[in-house]
Amino acid sequence: MADGHARVVVLGGGIAGLASAWFAASLSDLEVVVVEREPRHDAHSSGRSAEIQRIAVPDPVARELAMATDAIYADPKTSGLPSELDLVERVGLVVGHAAAEPEWLGDLEGRVEMHPLDPEEARRRAPHTRLEAAHATWFPTAGQVNAPRLLATLARSCAARGVRFVRSSGEARIEVEDGRVCGVAPALGESIPAARVINAAGAWAREVGAAAGAPLPLRPTRRHVLAFGRDARVAAPPVVWDDAAALYVRARGDRWLVSPCDVHDAAPAEEGGYPIDPDVMGSTRDRLTPFAPALADAPLVDAWAGYRDLAPDDRPVLGRDPRVPGLSWCASFGGHGMTLGLAAGRSAARATLGLEDPWAAHCDPMRLRE
Ligand SMILES: Cc1cc2nc3c(=O)[nH]c(=O)nc-3n(C[C@H](O)[C@H](O)[C@H](O)COP(=O)(O)OP(=O)(O)OC[C@H]3O[C@@H](n4cnc5c(N)ncnc54)[C@H](O)[C@@H]3O)c2cc1C
Repeated sequence: MADGHARVVVLGGGIAGLASAWFAASLSDLEVVVVEREPRHDAHSSGRSAEIQRIAVPDPVARELAMATDAIYADPKTSGLPSELDLVERVGLVVGHAAAEPEWLGDLEGRVEMHPLDPEEARRRAPHTRLEAAHATWFPTAGQVNAPRLLATLARSCAARGVRFVRSSGEARIEVEDGRVCGVAPALGESIPAARVINAAGAWAREVGAAAGAPLPLRPTRRHVLAFGRDARVAAPPVVWDDAAALYVRARGDRWLVSPCDVHDAAPAEEGGYPIDPDVMGSTRDRLTPFAPALADAPLVDAWAGYRDLAPDDRPVLGRDPRVPGLSWCASFGGHGMTLGLAAGRSAARATLGLEDPWAAHCDPMRLRE
């Protein structure tokens, strides 16, 4: 483990792993290695999301990370990322909410462009939907993240900065010696020595952490997305997210993507794949008809499920875990990975490197210790 002190290993190569690797490599001279078992970065949650950028979320720290990520999207070169690519398609977002003043409203006032919408305006902005919520807010500059472009940009930028990618044969594990992290084993009998390891294993982060001696009450859950056929010649309408109806809909190319906002406890290690729940499929169709009459007759062309790893307070878990020196977390992005992933990766990297960070302390893993 002689050379491990100059190395950070990131376990997991989705948005959490790529973002933390990018910032760890940008902010230090340490060697950074990403260990991922899949041949692609989008094999799991990061390739299965609805890609909606929603800053108006209940948790105030998640909201700040979302704001900070939006600043990077608006000007990627401030974080050393190529600036010529649009990472967000700013088609606008209508959020329907039951309360007149949800917890995020006052906080975002004056910081984000947003306007209250009466029912008539909501219908004009988003003629394909009928909000169930009594209130609505219009975010003209929000929209949908181009996740494939985001992942490819991060992976390319990491590689250009010397980040090494190692494919594990199956489940890589964190190695611990005398109570401290000493590396990652990407395969039986192999070891990458490292004094610092970032657990960015998404829905598997709970078991990866527990196996290293750092259990946390994270909760992998499953959510579905249904894709319906759409006339791609029509310009993309705004994203609509109705908290009262618990449905969201957005356009992607020749498809409408719809999610019923389902949250089912899941055990990804045991499920081994992505079973589709026929009950969720059926009930979504029924609920969709009053919410989006324009989609009622659209053909169902695809459907998938994905895992979202939730902390009890729906806030990411970022930074060092004092129970196992050398272990850091960049996990528990819940349903917000595309919205807050870049700033969360930056906070995790800073905390791992021992640098000051305004948000890492609020996302400390120890807040969740049972
Ligand atoms: C249906 C759905 C809709 C969503 N919609 C939105 C949305 O609209 N807006 C939004 O902002 N977010 C959304 N999200 C959330 C977002 O997709 C996630 O927060 C984000 O992708 C999580 O990224 P991650 O890197 O933590 O996880 P992942 O992308 O799952 O990456 C974790 C990686 O770790 C690897 N790994 C795990 N264990 C090991 C091991 N032992 N050895 C080697 N590799 C390992 C896995 O192979 C995987 O590639 C949605 C998610 C889902 C499922």
